[in-house]
This record gives sequence, C-alpha cells and structure tokens, in this order.
Amino acid sequence: MSTLTSEVVVVGGGPAGLTVAIALAAAGIETALVARVPAADHRTTALLAGSVTALDTLGVWQHAGSHAAPLKTLRIVDDTGRLLRAPEVHFSAEEIGLDAFGHNIENRHLLAALATRARGLATLRQIEAEAEAITLASDRATVRTRSGDEVSARLVVGADGRHSLTRSAAGIETERRSYPQTALTLNLGHARPHRDCSTEFHTARGPFTLVPLPGQRSSLVQVTEPAEAPRLAALSDPDLSDEIERKSHSILGKVTVEPGRGVFALAVVTARRFGTGRAVLIGEAAHVLPPIGAQGLNLGLRDAATIAELVVSARRAGGDIGADDIAGRYERMRRADVSSRALAVDLVNRSLLSEFLAVHGARGLGLLLLERIGPLRRAVMREGVAPAASQPRLMRGEAL
Ligand SMILES: Cc1cc2nc3c(=O)[nH]c(=O)nc-3n(C[C@H](O)[C@H](O)[C@H](O)COP(=O)(O)OP(=O)(O)OC[C@H]3O[C@@H](n4cnc5c(N)ncnc54)[C@H](O)[C@@H]3O)c2cc1C
Repeated sequence: MSTLTSEVVVVGGGPAGLTVAIALAAAGIETALVARVPAADHRTTALLAGSVTALDTLGVWQHAGSHAAPLKTLRIVDDTGRLLRAPEVHFSAEEIGLDAFGHNIENRHLLAALATRARGLATLRQIEAEAEAITLASDRATVRTRSGDEVSARLVVGADGRHSLTRSAAGIETERRSYPQTALTLNLGHARPHRDCSTEFHTARGPFTLVPLPGQRSSLVQVTEPAEAPRLAALSDPDLSDEIERKSHSILGKVTVEPGRGVFALAVVTARRFGTGRAVLIGEAAHVLPPIGAQGLNLGLRDAATIAELVVSARRAGGDIGADDIAGRYERMRRADVSSRALAVDLVNRSLLSEFLAVHGARGLGLLLLERIGPLRRAVMREGVAPAASQPRLMRGEAL
C-alpha cells in the first residue's frame, strides 16, 4: 500500500481522461491518472475541426493524423420512404472556408496516440488500476485503488465513463431518457471510393451513417430497433455485407465487413451537476448522447480543455485549484453547450421516429430551408464545427 500526493487526480483513461491528463501535465500541473486497461473498442470517432486543433496543440495529432480520414462533405438522404420526404442536403466544408469539417479515426488509433503522448510527460503519473473508492473532503479528494493504494489531490476529475464512480461519490444524480433504438457499429471495406464524403441515410428506424476511413474503408453506425441490431450482428460476414450494401443503395459498391461488431443501446444521460466541491465530471461521466451527429466525444474534449484551462489559470493566480468556485465556473461554462447538443440530437432522432405527418413536414421543411438558403446552411455548419459560445483555448490552437 502506498500514498501518493498530486495536484490533480484523473479517474478513467478513455479519450476524455487521457486528454485532460495530457493538457494538465503539459501545462506543468502534477497529475495522476488512475485508469483500468481500456477494453477493445472497434468504434471510430468523427472528431470535428476544433477537437483536431486541440489534439494538435497538445502534441497528440502528430501520432494520430495518418490514421484519420478527412470529412470534406456531409450528405443527408431522406430514406424514410414517407409521404413527406426531405430533399437531399449537402454540406461542404469548403463553403465555410475549411479543408474538412473534421477527421474520422478508429478509437484504437486515437487511444494509442494519446497513450504515446502521455508517456512523454514527466509531470504525469499513470497508475494502471481500478479506482474503488473516492472520498471528498473540504480540502482534498482521495482515490483508493482496488489494491489499496491511495492518491490524494486538490481536485479529482471524473472521466470514468457512463457508470462513473466519481459521480456517485460526489452524490450527483442523472437525468435519463432512453430511446426504443440500438446502434450497430462496424467498419467495412468497399469497392468504390468515398471521396471524403460522409453519408447519413435517415430511415424511419433511425440514421444509417457511413463515415470515411483512410483508403477504401468506412465505418458504419446503424441506429435501428432494439431486436434488429443483435440480429444483424449475428449474421455471417457475407450476409451482413450484402445487407449493408442494399441499405446503402450500393453508393460505395460491393461492401466487405471487417471483424469487430458493437451493439449499443441509445439513451441521453445528463448529470444534474458537472461538479461539486473537489470533484468535476467530464466526457460520458457528465453526458451520454446517442451516436447521431458525432457530438459525444467532441463535447467530452471540450469538457477536458475547459477544466484544464480553469485549473491552469487558478494555479497561475496562486489560488486553490480545487476550490468550490472551480466546479461552479466549470458548470457555467459547459452547461449550455451540452444541453443544446443533447436537445438537437433528441429533436433529429424524435422527428425520424415520429408517426405524425406534421412532424415529417416540419423536418422536411427544415432540411429544405438548409438546402436552399446558403447563409442559414453556413451558419448551421459553423455552429456544428465550432460552437460560438464554448470554444476553450485549446480548440482555438492556443497552448495553456
Ligand atoms: C456507436 C457510437 C458511436 C460514436 N461515435 C462518435 C463520433 O463519431 N464522434 C463523437 O464525438 N463521439 C462519438 N461517440 C461518443 C464517444 O464514443 C464517447 O463520447 C466517448 O467514447 C466517451 O469517452 P470517455 O473518455 O468519456 O469515456 P469512456 O471511453 O467510457 O472511458 C472511460 C474509461 O474509464 C475507465 N473506468 C471506469 N471506471 C473506472 C474506475 N473505477 N477506475 C479506473 N478506470 C475506470 C473505463 O475502463 C474506461 O477506459 C460514439 C458513441 C457510440 C456509442
């Protein structure tokens, strides 16, 4: 048994936890990262431009960029087969002066790049362990691992995912909304090039989204009924490949699925508070969003960049980096961004599931306006890539 003292302790070594640990340690804050060995993850993440800029600023993108594919065009196709259908909408990054909206990368490559960068930081102490108990006192937070070791710090950052121990230790409750939907995820090869274009087919069961990967490969997130995703996941490779080619109307030609399929139940879970006293929550510990519109981890990285910025400025001002006002300021800086994204994803998803003609009409009209009115379309694209109200310094390319 040992006791380590640090300025900040981060619990959880997923992409959000590793990013905040790197951001803090790179700015000279003594940081301990208590993390289990991550489970195998075959998913990919579409990182929007601000997230890529932040990872570049932190010296991570240099290890990741060659594994990522640029997303230059986004296409929404109404595949509901309903009476009132929306027009096909194209969003081009060029239209808002960007090379790409962002980049799609397999999570295993992103995690490997983060781990490489983390290893090079002398101020970051990595402890491969499961956090078993977290105690929050008025002046310190203490994390005890399963082997009985303790790390004590001014602030604990809970990056421990949707079943966050940090969240329960802080007594923070969640609001939860489930959907009658499940997502199937996998990666695939295809005969025709994707031309850096991501295509989202809106079906009456949910979106069916193909996102480019480097070469003639893409990732698929298919949102469908709860019984349908496991049925698809159990198909043989040739049968599943045929089914995907059919659903994608052969836009990528012949499809060959790769090993590794994931099935995820859809829900929105939001912590009632993002911090209290000596604890703050980031990433899925704070908010879980359905995989629609590539928002989840992009929000998580903005959380990481925001709390790192607050801690670094408190330390430079000679203040207590875990004082109560840090959690309050963090809450105020993050709540609107998280709530507005959760609402937008919820509206898109509900409009697809709805049986009401009027809702289909409103959705179709919204997309028609986006297709026809250039300034509106460009404003929506800019807000999607870089929300005006919540760009922390790292997302603007400024080191902490
Ligand atoms: C199908 C699907 C597709 C998605 N696609 C996108 C996308 O394109 N773009 C996007 O931005 N987002 C996307 N997301 C969301 C994104 O995957 C999540 O936001 C992201 O993985 C959350 O990262 P995290 O670090 O917060 O949590 P996690 O990845 O869950 O990491 C938490 C880590 O903490 C560890 N941990 C937990 N408890 C403890 C403990 N007690 N002690 C030690 N360690 C602990 C876990 O083992 C894990 O390694 C998608 C999600 C799904 C389901």
